[in-house]
Amino acid sequence: MLNGYLPPARFLPFLSWTDIAELPDKENTVIVLPTGAIEQHGPHLPCAVDSIIAAGVVGHALARLPDEVAAFAIPPITYGKSDEHLHFPGTLTLTGDILQQTIIELGESVYRAGFRKLLMVNGHGGQPQPLQMAMRELRLRHGDFILIMQDIFKVPNCADRFMAEQERQMAMHAGHAETALIMALAPETVQMHKAVCNYPPAFPCPTLSSTRPMAAWVAYDFGPSGVIGDPLPATPEQGEAILDSLASSWARAISEIHQMKWVTRDAPSWGKAHWQGTVLAEHDAASLLKHQ
Ligand SMILES: [Zn+2]
Repeated sequence: MLNGYLPPARFLPFLSWTDIAELPDKENTVIVLPTGAIEQHGPHLPCAVDSIIAAGVVGHALARLPDEVAAFAIPPITYGKSDEHLHFPGTLTLTGDILQQTIIELGESVYRAGFRKLLMVNGHGGQPQPLQMAMRELRLRHGDFILIMQDIFKVPNCADRFMAEQERQMAMHAGHAETALIMALAPETVQMHKAVCNYPPAFPCPTLSSTRPMAAWVAYDFGPSGVIGDPLPATPEQGEAILDSLASSWARAISEIHQMKWVTRDAPSWGKAHWQGTVLAEHDAASLLKHQ
């Protein structure tokens, strides 16, 4: 079925429009959007890793929510911004602009339906920037819209318990943690006999190297396998443990977002003019100046 890893009772598109119109307390209902990507993940993992992990962890989190926490997933973003991997076949990427615009359109649709809380759980480290830019734009348009985006691994989880120091410091892609998680979520797609270890060289600027500086890179810069890390020690049991810890942290986060209050305000008049595509009216400009 279309819902994949997401529990059917928590999959918004399985409701009819009248069901959605009649939902109680839509302002606090959390709409969860898993954001993944389709991009190479070395010779041993499928290209769908980031989409599988985003939807899989969100699905497991939603499945353990108590009934009183109102939350629904919408269909995951499976195509993301993966241009750093386009030297490898199987990578299917959007441009950052298109991804940003897609999130804005989806956010508008969620808002129009009466929801006011949108959480993006991001499975691909190459695209937080367009997601953040889209969130800021939506927030500017709608001052009562609560938008949150976080990397899927940036909640408390037990992955570090299994990782070697070098892996914790240097791994970025198709390494130990992602491999273990895919062993748990989609074991039939893992080909461990093809797995290789590959670490990038240390960044040759010692003052910045411990901060993982943002030197521009594409995956091919670090070797022809596409792997950045060491997948070899991964096991399905570790994957189950990491999945369980991520799912329980995300379930807790979704419950807290359901309860939380956040700053709200009216959209500024110039913000409305901007998003409606109209030219800033003269009196708006004058009143804006007066307020400075
Ligand atoms: Zn990945």
